[in-house]
Amino acid sequence: MKLHGTMEVKDNTLYIGGVSTMDLAKRYKTPLYVFDEELIINNCREYKKYFKVEENNNKIAYAGKAFLPKYMCNIINKEGLYLDVVSLGELYTAYKSNFPMEKILFHGNNKTIEEIKMGVDFGVGVFVVDNFYELDILESFCRDKNKIQNIYFRVTPGIDAHTHKYIKTGQIDSKFGFALTNGDFYNAVNKLKDYPHLKLVGIHAHIGSQIFEVEPYEEEVDVMFNLVKTLKDEYDIEIKEVDFGGGIGVYYTESDKPKTIKEFCEKIIDKCEKKCKELKINMPSLILEPGRSLVANAGSTLYSIGSIKDIKDVRTYVSVDGGMTDNIRPSLYQAGYECAVVNKMNNPKTSHKVTIAGKCCESGDILISNTSILDIESGDVLITTSTGAYGYSMASNYNKIPKNPVVFVNKGEDKLVCKRQSLDDLLYLEL
Ligand code: PLP
Repeated sequence: MKLHGTMEVKDNTLYIGGVSTMDLAKRYKTPLYVFDEELIINNCREYKKYFKVEENNNKIAYAGKAFLPKYMCNIINKEGLYLDVVSLGELYTAYKSNFPMEKILFHGNNKTIEEIKMGVDFGVGVFVVDNFYELDILESFCRDKNKIQNIYFRVTPGIDAHTHKYIKTGQIDSKFGFALTNGDFYNAVNKLKDYPHLKLVGIHAHIGSQIFEVEPYEEEVDVMFNLVKTLKDEYDIEIKEVDFGGGIGVYYTESDKPKTIKEFCEKIIDKCEKKCKELKINMPSLILEPGRSLVANAGSTLYSIGSIKDIKDVRTYVSVDGGMTDNIRPSLYQAGYECAVVNKMNNPKTSHKVTIAGKCCESGDILISNTSILDIESGDVLITTSTGAYGYSMASNYNKIPKNPVVFVNKGEDKLVCKRQSLDDLLYLEL
């Protein structure tokens, strides 16, 4: 198992942020999400440094869908990042965390009337307008409030990134954005003449998630900067901001070979500079919206091992006290993970091939298939790493299993930032 961020092994035990994971499991019980605060902060700073946030007025907008407790909003704010939200709930979380509303980008392919209204009332910085329906409603709210709202248009750029079909979004057959090929994008631009309360300041595209190659992003730069030039030359619209979305891939298992934040940012910036020169246009302010690459490797999940079922010559199932309710990704899109027993990190014994199963009543509730693990017993504490993105945020109460608590660790201290749901919490909404 690869050690991420501040992870280290002392006396055969795994520590994160200077705190023993065995102590965390005892104190907070399992299953438990543990976040390495230092790694999140370092990732924020790397993005800011290598995406030239200070020099070119570029922006890093954290994609809150990856993981958004209020505590995370506070870190993002303190580090000077912007925030991308996609729902009333995410917007409200940011609002309740005193996150500056002008630093919010409001996304979504079907914002409800209530969401659009709340976004306008709260004063979000930018609406990333996805379709004609939203355009009409937004204009009418802004007219009622006599307010000019900055908007980006979400473009479907026609780029097919090599990733799982559930997390690719840039191809033409997509529910997101205005397509370029069928003229929708230009129809939307033309409509703006009759929409005086909407100011098009930027364009946005998001081509998918867990992408390792830079080439699709370079293609995206070509498409987006060509658009900037066309809008200037043919529509006299100055696009000041170009948002390339998120999607930068991370390490889950040995088969993943991600680029560093530095490599990725430098390549994108380099391509943007070349393209601007080629088209003879001014460099707009550039935006990236990383979600996964800011938090995935910083998060881990601790489980207790219960039943171990050995089916001779077939498989050994090692069952844990969580599963698809706290990590849906393996069931949803066959995502891979690494694991280890946290109090037996250096055991010299031979390894066994096992399958780590969750406790839900679904045969598909398998967290890791056919992984090698050292000497394992019921009662041991197992860690799965890189569960920081789309784990807690996609958690469910299937089988009426309460959601795990979230603990942040940093410099030898641990801090509970989300409590475990209680059994009464599960019944809270029931009349
Ligand atoms: N921006 C937009 C518009 C998205 O839809 C997403 C993910 O779905 C992201 C950013 C974040 O992507 P990732 O977490 O892969 O960086």
